Amino acid sequence: MKNNILILGASGQIGTELTQKLRVLYGDNHVIASDIKKGNSTVLNTGPFEILDATDKESILRIVKKYKINQVYLMAAMLSATAEKLPQKAWNLNISSLLAVLDLAKEKHIQQVFWPSSMAVFGTTSPKINTPQQTIMEPSTVYGISKVAGEHWCNYYHENYGVDVRSIRYPGIISWKTKPGGGTTDYAVDVYFDALEKGNYECFLSENTQLPMMYMDDAIKATVQIMQAEESNINIRTSYNLSAISFTPQEIALEIKKHIPNFKISYNPDFRQKIADSWPNSIDDSFARKDWDWKHDFDLSSMTKDIIRNLKANKNMFFKAV
Ligand code: NAD
Repeated sequence: MKNNILILGASGQIGTELTQKLRVLYGDNHVIASDIKKGNSTVLNTGPFEILDATDKESILRIVKKYKINQVYLMAAMLSATAEKLPQKAWNLNISSLLAVLDLAKEKHIQQVFWPSSMAVFGTTSPKINTPQQTIMEPSTVYGISKVAGEHWCNYYHENYGVDVRSIRYPGIISWKTKPGGGTTDYAVDVYFDALEKGNYECFLSENTQLPMMYMDDAIKATVQIMQAEESNINIRTSYNLSAISFTPQEIALEIKKHIPNFKISYNPDFRQKIADSWPNSIDDSFARKDWDWKHDFDLSSMTKDIIRNLKANKNMFFKAV
């Protein structure tokens, strides 16, 4: 059967690029993008788009029936930094959207669900270096609490109702096509834009804050790969650890200086430092590598080269004057 896919939260940082990739793979009219707001013109112009609230189960069901959807990618969420300012709203959005989609799968309206978790499931009591797949998970943020709870809901629906839900714990995702939406790792996107536009960047994390990160191309590759894997290879139904690179603001600045020698970075940590300090420095993702052959393509150097080349090539789109 040809997949008919619905993406909830398609106007966001990851949803935008995921929509484009899935349209290439499955055909423009088989991938329905949706969000509570309109987003990127590429998403709007290359295939169907619906305004849709991811917490509204009946409206999702209407769209599922309209387009004969069998797969849902739930990308709508409130991210770590914004969620700390609106904890109740974050909990409601992150959990009720997941339960709505899992229920639709339980009722057999859809066959497969993708839902991303995050490294934010870990907290200060988790091992910080090479954080294992199974370990202490005591997150200190409402975002992390919602992701741990969400992971257990996924596992519960799989165990009790046979729902084929698949999940990965994304590290910080770095992209140049779309700006991030209120996370603690957003600095690693902003730094490239400011380096090219202004030649300097004030970082909201301290220079030695090491965090697990991943280039968008790798994040999309992992997402497609886990959804295409044989069902029998998916042994973890909470969420898979996933990792690619780990670096500090100082290390990314040094890499940028290789391309923009006069680039200057300064540090002015804010409330996001506390969130970053509660997360791992690096993550052990050997289960993903073993179960569904995950491997990343980009390191800090090749990612930086690719981002700077693309931002320079598309400067009229992004910068007032470069
Ligand atoms: P984002 O904030 O960029 O995008 C989220 C999208 O959801 C936005 O377009 C927003 O308009 C939409 N949305 C909000 N409320 C909605 C609602 N009620 N109904 C429909 N749409 C709604 O987020 P992202 O970075 O693209 O993240 C996607 C997923 O990946 C989230 O689950 C997030 O927790 C997870 N994740 C992201 C990162 C990262 O670094 N970007 C890291 C770990 C996990």
